[in-house]
Amino acid sequence: MCGILGIIGQNCEASKLAYFGLYAQQHRGQESAGIAVVAEKGEIHYHKGMGLVSQVFNENIIRGLPGNLAVGHVRYSTTGASQIKNAQPVLVELPDGALLLAHNGNLVNTLELRGELESAGVAWRMSSDTEIIGCLIAKYYNGDLADTLVRVAPKLQGAFSLVLMTRDKILGLRDPHGIRPLCLGQLPDKSGFVLASESCALDILGAKLLREVDKGSLVILEKDRVRSLVYDGTKPGALCVFEYIYFARPDSYIEGHNVYKVREKMGKLLFQEHPADADIVIPVPDSGIPAAVGFARASGIPYEEGLIKNRYVGRTFINPSQVMREIGVRLKLNPLREVLAGKRVVILDDSIVRGTTSAKLVRLLRDSGAREVHFRVSAPPSISPCYYGIDTPVKSQLIAANNSAAEICRKLGADTLGYLSIEAVHEAIAASADGSNGKCFCQGCFDGVYPAGIPSGEELGLVYKER
Ligand code: AMP
Repeated sequence: MCGILGIIGQNCEASKLAYFGLYAQQHRGQESAGIAVVAEKGEIHYHKGMGLVSQVFNENIIRGLPGNLAVGHVRYSTTGASQIKNAQPVLVELPDGALLLAHNGNLVNTLELRGELESAGVAWRMSSDTEIIGCLIAKYYNGDLADTLVRVAPKLQGAFSLVLMTRDKILGLRDPHGIRPLCLGQLPDKSGFVLASESCALDILGAKLLREVDKGSLVILEKDRVRSLVYDGTKPGALCVFEYIYFARPDSYIEGHNVYKVREKMGKLLFQEHPADADIVIPVPDSGIPAAVGFARASGIPYEEGLIKNRYVGRTFINPSQVMREIGVRLKLNPLREVLAGKRVVILDDSIVRGTTSAKLVRLLRDSGAREVHFRVSAPPSISPCYYGIDTPVKSQLIAANNSAAEICRKLGADTLGYLSIEAVHEAIAASADGSNGKCFCQGCFDGVYPAGIPSGEELGLVYKER
């Protein structure tokens, strides 16, 4: 999972805008950050580093990146290790100039593509699938970038939302299923355009959300106009449903749906499907908040804050080692005894993945005097890995892949456990906008069905994954 951004404007200090646009998308990746710009005479400057946007950049660095075009990236690794060599944007050398590339998603035919490129003599500098995309663009480049992209895109299988920057254009490319989001906005006073993974990045720039980049399409942004072309309109849409459940920021809009409203509705439906007799409803902050609000409203049970989050600690899940994860929960969440003691508590979280966090939380609540703990999850059981860019573990580590809900409840030490049905997830999404249903999603993590295929070699355990 990553956050991407592209800006084209006039006298706009694009690197500063990119900085703030990435800052707003920090939740999409905290391992590395990078910004590249095109300066006055067409030269490209870039800076990238490990860590948060605010750690990688300062005023001086931003000042050293002048220009009206910028592309930016925050990274959360799925393919390729968390190392500086894999930080983006990636520079691609073309015969007539440089191209900068930022990618959100994950390809599933990495092994074949690497093979094809290696036999053509490519020497790798990175270990991420983004470099493969760059190499393919270079290999098939015919002097017309739009045409090249339309030829290269069908070779890529899996999930990809790309932002690309040339000397005078920003381009956006989305896979035929539209698995990862990408939206288009207009800068204030019609002074230019912006592409971003999420609309919350547009808000911070005062930009207006124009629309999503359509699945299977290419958009070309110039100073004063946007052109679009569909290169593959044959595939059903399959936006990642987990964006709505967990990943996207609640203030973002995806396909016209406000993420907060979707989550709140999920909480309401969760109460209908799995009611609880309790004294208080508490969220696991921050991701469980909207659903807990919905659950509390629907049930009439008071909403309280029973866990206080240290907001300066990153997502514990992201820590690669299990040992760190164990410490992480305690670091991040401290129970409020005053609120919890003697209470029958409903606790809301958006997902249970390994079950590590949830088991610890139940223990924390009980240690703080909670009389009963009713765990509610505003998503179906996570039973299958994600191959399209969300860092979920292998099946053997997914608690719901290997245990029934009753067993999970016992392992967590909860009194009751309830998961939201996939039908209710769909209903919540439909209800939050125009009421139209029938949208298609990628929900492989819940049903094991993968619209863009699974990695070749997956069955043989050969999937390219470097840690
Ligand atoms: P676990 O201990 O593995 O069950 O972690 C579950 C917690 O991780 C929940 O609070 C989720 O909000 C969060 N979570 C779920 N998926 C992800 C992900 N891909 N990256 C980071 N956090 C996640």
